[in-house]
Amino acid sequence: MELQYLGTAAAEGWPALFCDCEICHKAREKGGKDLRTRTQSILDGTILIDFPPDTYTHALRYRLNLGKVQHLLITHSHMDHFFPVDLIHRHEHFGHNAEGMLHVYGNEAVEKAFYEAVLIDRFKVHPLDNSVRFVRVEPFQDFVAEGYHIIPVAADHDKREACLIYIIEKDGKCLLYGHDTGMNLSREAWDCICSYQYDLISMDATMGRQKTNGYHMGLSDDLEMVRLLEGKGCLKKGAVKVISHFSHNGGMTHGELEQFAGEHGLTAAYDGMAVKI
Ligand SMILES: [Zn+2]
Ligand SMILES: [Zn+2]
Ligand SMILES: [Zn+2]
Repeated sequence: MELQYLGTAAAEGWPALFCDCEICHKAREKGGKDLRTRTQSILDGTILIDFPPDTYTHALRYRLNLGKVQHLLITHSHMDHFFPVDLIHRHEHFGHNAEGMLHVYGNEAVEKAFYEAVLIDRFKVHPLDNSVRFVRVEPFQDFVAEGYHIIPVAADHDKREACLIYIIEKDGKCLLYGHDTGMNLSREAWDCICSYQYDLISMDATMGRQKTNGYHMGLSDDLEMVRLLEGKGCLKKGAVKVISHFSHNGGMTHGELEQFAGEHGLTAAYDGMAVKI
């Protein structure tokens, strides 16, 4: 499997849209890996994970033919993970030769946002019935999409909805996609996570140096999570341990994140990074 990180920032982007803090200031000056769009990934060019407002930018930058993608996993309804209005462009009036049906998997809040966005009056002449289909998923109710076994796990994030992180396995390879979540997961979630062995874990590192108490993770949480999974024998030999979904509020430049990651056997994600497992 190959997971490509299309965007690696939290909701406000990096540099943040209206921010001139030290980190954002440096990011504008430096460019390169210090410029981050909102979080999105694609697995083997087949399974798209999350749909931020930057999806269009990602399609341009990485020359993605998204009309071929038929499976989109949504973690939760926050706008940096789900910007549903753009889905209307999969209708054949805008998206010629888009292949088959795009299945959008998400929770109840994502479903509500989906229908509110695609059923607005001005788009009613272009119904999505033949091009996009919403599929409601529930925590711990696994399903199969294009040969990938997918297990949604209840995250520790916005309590107003059933936010999800995902375990995905295929052909003996397994990854944990953990954006967005904190460490205060339910017993059921930890039991589920710890019942797999991973080749890749992708961990929330929104808060960088800052301490957190759930909702997101910082670098000390990431190290704790690695310790915990290693202790349970859940990391395969040579497992790749990625940190991503960064915020300027974490107070670290990409160079500093990379240095920290290097010292602790982690990989600091950047936009465009691909990990093969
Ligand atoms: Zn987020
Ligand atoms: Zn800033
Ligand atoms: Zn979120």
